[in-house]
Amino acid sequence: MTAPGSATGSPEGRPGGVEDVDAVVVGAGLAGLYALYRLRQLGLRTVVLEAGGGVGGTWYWNRYPGARCDVESYDYSYSFSAELQQEWVWTERFPAQGEVLAYVNHVADRFDLRRDVRLHTRVVQAAFDDDTARWTVTTAAGDRMTARYCVMATGCLSIPKDPDIPGLDSYEGNLYQTARWPHDDPDFTGQRVACIGTGSSGIQCIPMLARQAGHLHVFQRTPNFSVPAQNRPLDAAGDRAMKARYPEHRRAARSSYAGVVIATTGRSAFEVSPEERRREYEARWQRGGVQFLGAYTDIRTDTAANDTAAEFVRDRIRETVSDPEVAARLLPWDYPIGTKRLCVDTGYFDTYNRPNVTLVDLRETPIERITPDGIRTTAADHRFDSIVLATGFDAMTGALLRADIRGRGGRALADEWADGPRVYLGLAINGFPNLFTVTGPGSPSVLANMVLAIEQHVEWIADCIRYLEEGGFRTIEATDQAQDDWARHVAEVAELSLFPKTDSWYVGTNVPGKPRTFMPYLGGFDTYSRRCTEVAAGGYAGFVLEKA
Ligand code: FAD
Ligand code: NAP
Repeated sequence: MTAPGSATGSPEGRPGGVEDVDAVVVGAGLAGLYALYRLRQLGLRTVVLEAGGGVGGTWYWNRYPGARCDVESYDYSYSFSAELQQEWVWTERFPAQGEVLAYVNHVADRFDLRRDVRLHTRVVQAAFDDDTARWTVTTAAGDRMTARYCVMATGCLSIPKDPDIPGLDSYEGNLYQTARWPHDDPDFTGQRVACIGTGSSGIQCIPMLARQAGHLHVFQRTPNFSVPAQNRPLDAAGDRAMKARYPEHRRAARSSYAGVVIATTGRSAFEVSPEERRREYEARWQRGGVQFLGAYTDIRTDTAANDTAAEFVRDRIRETVSDPEVAARLLPWDYPIGTKRLCVDTGYFDTYNRPNVTLVDLRETPIERITPDGIRTTAADHRFDSIVLATGFDAMTGALLRADIRGRGGRALADEWADGPRVYLGLAINGFPNLFTVTGPGSPSVLANMVLAIEQHVEWIADCIRYLEEGGFRTIEATDQAQDDWARHVAEVAELSLFPKTDSWYVGTNVPGKPRTFMPYLGGFDTYSRRCTEVAAGGYAGFVLEKA
C-alpha cells in the first residue's frame, strides 16, 4: 500500500500520458524537499520535479573546491524535526558543501522522500487552466502533469548567469563554472589556471585553486569585502551542550531579524570612541563570519558609520597583502560594506602573497575576449589550460522566469514582471492562483538564514493549502492591490538603507537588461514572519478565495 499522500505506486494516468496529482513542487533543494514532507502530511499526492541528477539544489550543483556554508551548521539545518536535529552530528562550525549535501541526502532518506522526487526532470512550462483551476506542468522531455497546487521551490541562486564574455565558445581548454561543477573533481596540478569573478564563490575557490595550480591568474572586476570564517572543527562536548539548548536556540532564531541571532551592541557606531569601535570590530573579526556587520545598528543605514567598518576591513587587507600595489587593487572603495553580500573566506587575501598567483585588475585592463587558448585583455594575451567562471547567478527571478509560467488567460509571468518582480509577501502572484513561490522576491529570503526562511514559507504554504482544502475553496489568489502595496512597502523599507544604490545581484544589475529593483525584503525575518501569520489569521487578507 502506498503511504498517505504519496504519488508513487498508482499514478493517476489519463489517455495522452497526462498524470494528475494534487501538488507539483518544482525543485528538490532544501525548499522542495521540505514542501514534499509537509504536503504529504496533508495527505496530498505530491510530486517533486528536479532538473538535476540528485537532491540538494545549491549543494548538489556548487561543488567547487572551497564551497562552504557561511551560516553556522547548527543554524543552517532544518528545525522541524527534534529527532533529526538531535541525531545529526555536524563536524565543522561552517560546513563544507559535501557535508551539507550529505545532510540533505540523509533527510531525503530519513523521511522517505526520494520515491516522490523525479530527477533529471526540468520543468519548461507551468500553465493555469481557468476552467479546471488546475496547473499543467510540462517537462523538457514533453511529459505533462496536472495539479491543483504548484509550489515553485526553484531557488534564488540556481540559474548561473550567462557568462557575457565574447569568444567563450572558441575556448579550446577546460572550461568550468562554479555553479555547474563537474562530479569528477578536476585536478589542476601544474596547470595555468584563470578564475574570473571575485564574489563569494570566487573568494572561496581561489585559495584552493592556488594550492593546486602551477600558476593562477585572478581576473577581478570589482574588489569585494570579505571577512575571515575562522572555521573550526566541532567537538562532542560542544555538540552535547548545543543540543541541550536547541529548542531555545531555534526559538531565538525564529524571532530574530536575520533568522539567526546576531549579537549587536545595540548602539550607533558614533556612540563609542574610535578605540572602542576598533576593539569591537577586531573582536568580531577574530570570531569570524557575517556577525561582523552586527557591530553597530547604523552600519547598513548611515554612510559614515558604514565607512568605519569598511575602513577596518580595508586596513586588514593592507596588512595582509605584502605587495602594496596588489593590496591597493584589492581594496573595495566604491560601495558600502554589506550592501553586496559580505563574503566569508578562508585565507583569501593571503593567497595574493603566493608567488604563483597574479591579480589582473579588469578596471585597468578589461577583458577583450576569450581566445582559443586563453584570455585577451587590453594589455596582454594570457594562455590558460583551464578557465574557472565564478561569475554569479541570475538571482531571485532567474529560475521563475525561465520556466514560462502562465497564469489566468495565458498571462505570462515574464510580461507581468517586465519592470521587475511583484509578489505579495514574496509568496503569491496576482493572476497566478494556487501557485506559491518559496523565498521569492519580496520576502527576507537571501537576507536571512535561508533554511529558516524556507521552513517559514513552506509552513505558511502548507497551512494555507490545508485551509483551502478544509474550507472547500477552489483557488486562492493575491489581489493586485495587496501585491502593489507590498511591493511599495518592500521598496520603501529598502530606501531606508544603503542597499539599493549599490550594483549587485540583489538589484539585478549583474544581468544585462534586468530591471533594477531591490528584490529581497529588508524589514527583518521576525517582522515579516509576524505579518505572514497575521495575514493567515485574518482569513488571508489581501487574497481572494474562490469557493469550489
Ligand atoms: P536551491 O537549493 O537552489 O534548489 C532549487 C532547485 O530547483 C535546484 O536543484 C534546481 O535545479 C531546481 N530547479 C530550478 N528550476 C527548475 C525547473 N524549471 N525544473 C526543475 N527543477 C528546477 N544561504 C545561506 O543561508 N547560507 C549560506 O551559507 C549559503 N551559501 C550558499 C553558497 C552557494 C555557493 C550558493 C549558490 C548559495 C548559498 N546560499 C546560502 C543560498 C542557498 O541557495 C540557500 O541557502 C538554499 O540552499 C536554497 O535552497 P532552495 O531549495 O530554495 O533552492
Ligand atoms: P557574485 O557575487 O554575483 O559574483 C560574481 C563575480 O563575477 C563578481 O566579482 C563579478 O564582478 C564577476 N563577473 C561577473 N561577470 C563578469 C564578467 N563578464 N567579467 C568579469 N567579471 C565578471 O556571484 P557568486 O560569487 O556566485 O555569489 C552569489 C551569491 O551566492 C553570494 O552573494 C551568496 O549569497 C551566495 N554564495 C554564498 C557562499 C557562501 O559563502 N556560503 C558562497 C558562494 C555563493 P562585478 O562585481 O564587477 O559584477
